[in-house]
Amino acid sequence: MALLQISEPGESPAPHQRRVAIGIDLGTTNSLVATVRNSIAVVLNDEEGHPLLPSIVRYGADGNVAVGYEAQAQQASDPKNTIVSVKRFMGRGLKDVAHAENSPYDFIDGPNGAGMVQMRTRAGVKSPVEVSGEILRVLRLRAEAALFGSDGGELYGAVITVPAYFDDAQRQATKDAAKLAGLNVMRLLNEPTAAAIAYGLDNAAEGIYAVFDLGGGTFDISILRLTKGVFEVLATGGDSALGGDDFDHRLFCWVLEQARVPPLSDGDTRVMLIKARQVKEDLTLHAEARFNAKLSTGQVVDVMVTQRDFWDMTRHLVAKTLAPAKKALRDAGLTPAEVKGVVMVGGATRMLHVQRAVAELFGQAPLNNLDPDKVVALGAAIQANALAGNRSSEEDWLLLDVIPLSLGIETMGGLVEKIIPRNSTIPVAKAQEFTTFKDGQTAMAVHVVQGERELVSDCRSLARFELRDIPPFAAGAARIRVTFQVDADGLLSVSAKEMTSGIEAAVAVKPSYGLADSDITRMLKDSFEHARDDVHVRALREQQVEGERMLEAVNAALSADGDLLSADERSAIDAELASLKGLVSGRDHRAIKSAIEHINHATENFAARRMDRSVKQALAGKNIANV
Ligand code: ADP
Ligand code: MG
Repeated sequence: MALLQISEPGESPAPHQRRVAIGIDLGTTNSLVATVRNSIAVVLNDEEGHPLLPSIVRYGADGNVAVGYEAQAQQASDPKNTIVSVKRFMGRGLKDVAHAENSPYDFIDGPNGAGMVQMRTRAGVKSPVEVSGEILRVLRLRAEAALFGSDGGELYGAVITVPAYFDDAQRQATKDAAKLAGLNVMRLLNEPTAAAIAYGLDNAAEGIYAVFDLGGGTFDISILRLTKGVFEVLATGGDSALGGDDFDHRLFCWVLEQARVPPLSDGDTRVMLIKARQVKEDLTLHAEARFNAKLSTGQVVDVMVTQRDFWDMTRHLVAKTLAPAKKALRDAGLTPAEVKGVVMVGGATRMLHVQRAVAELFGQAPLNNLDPDKVVALGAAIQANALAGNRSSEEDWLLLDVIPLSLGIETMGGLVEKIIPRNSTIPVAKAQEFTTFKDGQTAMAVHVVQGERELVSDCRSLARFELRDIPPFAAGAARIRVTFQVDADGLLSVSAKEMTSGIEAAVAVKPSYGLADSDITRMLKDSFEHARDDVHVRALREQQVEGERMLEAVNAALSADGDLLSADERSAIDAELASLKGLVSGRDHRAIKSAIEHINHATENFAARRMDRSVKQALAGKNIANV
């Protein structure tokens, strides 16, 4: 941000009046920490003035744990103990790690193959949670140093961002990492939502926004809908193996060809790739840049690269972002023209040909006046500040987020009864009563599922538990109340209680680790493909039930008290009843609804007269003083 920060006397509250909160972008390639100071969100730099912290952790031979640039420098010489891109392993089992065999790490599967993958390092076996915890710890210390100096002070809490498609296991792992790092997590926030908040879009006009995030190794596209200050994720997509690194690699290959370099050692490859990254970044601002590197063989590589060369050689990579972007729009049932704004996120969106391609796809200039690699952290800081209660009331705003997939339980016939529907704002708690199916049934299995489809087999299984020792009632007599509670971070706990006996069972859903990217994509895709049908089916079913109930009730009233109506009134009601009767078995839920409203209206006077009559009957023969 090209904003000068001027703190006016009296304008900023004294430190003890404010709760100091931070926002953290825990990225695959780079992480950042930001805060709101004097009403402006700022990224906190390290002592050398770097805003970014490379998300790299090295367990050194001396027992030291190095994080960031220092670890990055050792990456080539000590790959096994230097963990990069650990975010890819969060909440994942070994079987979900793509190309584990090509990875330099010594992976170990979690217990029974069910837990999170771990890595054997010289400092012992490390889980992705511990590695991420090291990164977060460095950011916490950085924030404390920047915000409190030597005075000491305590952070009130942190908001940490996660990709919108992260499932429960990945979110839980992120929260655990933060706890390890000594952070009080106020909330996990979806990255695209954070970016939109940084641009103040939550105060903007309602509508559809796209967030285009091209980072170091991943590409994410999210389509958000803003309604009343709440962002709802309509669709996500992307490519988990596409990012700035691929542009470096392409440039590296191109230079090898140009300079006719013989096969390289691992160390030289590393040197050349680092150079390629630098040259790529230079080419964002300069028409040409010099690729100059000295290899261990003594050979000097010296090639001039123009912006034009670079754009030509990486054109196909830019094109690869467009297909998922179009697909996400299709999934959300939208055209590019319906998108009100496009937020650019991720360092790699600085490249001009990426900007141009995005502008062309959406037919508008993207929002890019904030640093694309800082925007997520800035948004997280703004939300953290608000959650800490530092906002004045006139700036009051909504702090809601929504659950991405419905949560429910399995009922008879393998059907899903949704308890918390998708897009419910969180935190949320909902309960529903169920009953036993068989006479004398003393146990009930509760199977918790997540997903949009009506059949259990189309949804994701989250947990199972049993409610035992239910008193042996007749079928249908037990009243079992199942309560779902989703906390502010989208994590779920479920409990079941038999209401007559009070016996209870509960699980905090320890989500089964390791839902593959493809599964998430498929589930979201399915949900969007079927969402419209499903919503329609449900709305129709509800109106049909209501319509039938209405027909029955009015007919019963007519046969009991029909004499209260004049012939005209009676025929008006009969006409409305006939019309509802004709519609109730049809497929137009709106028409049924409006017919129900008509009947309600047509029977208002009738209902009033019936009421009078029944009151009179009730009072008949009674002394008014006894009523
Ligand atoms: P992540 O979200 O994956 O942690 P970032 O958003 O920090 O990643 O993006 C990192 C990528 O952005 C790297 O590939 C880096 O080279 C690239 N990048 C940063 N600055 C520039 C620039 N000026 N021009 C081109 N690419 C850049
Ligand atoms: Mg990022």
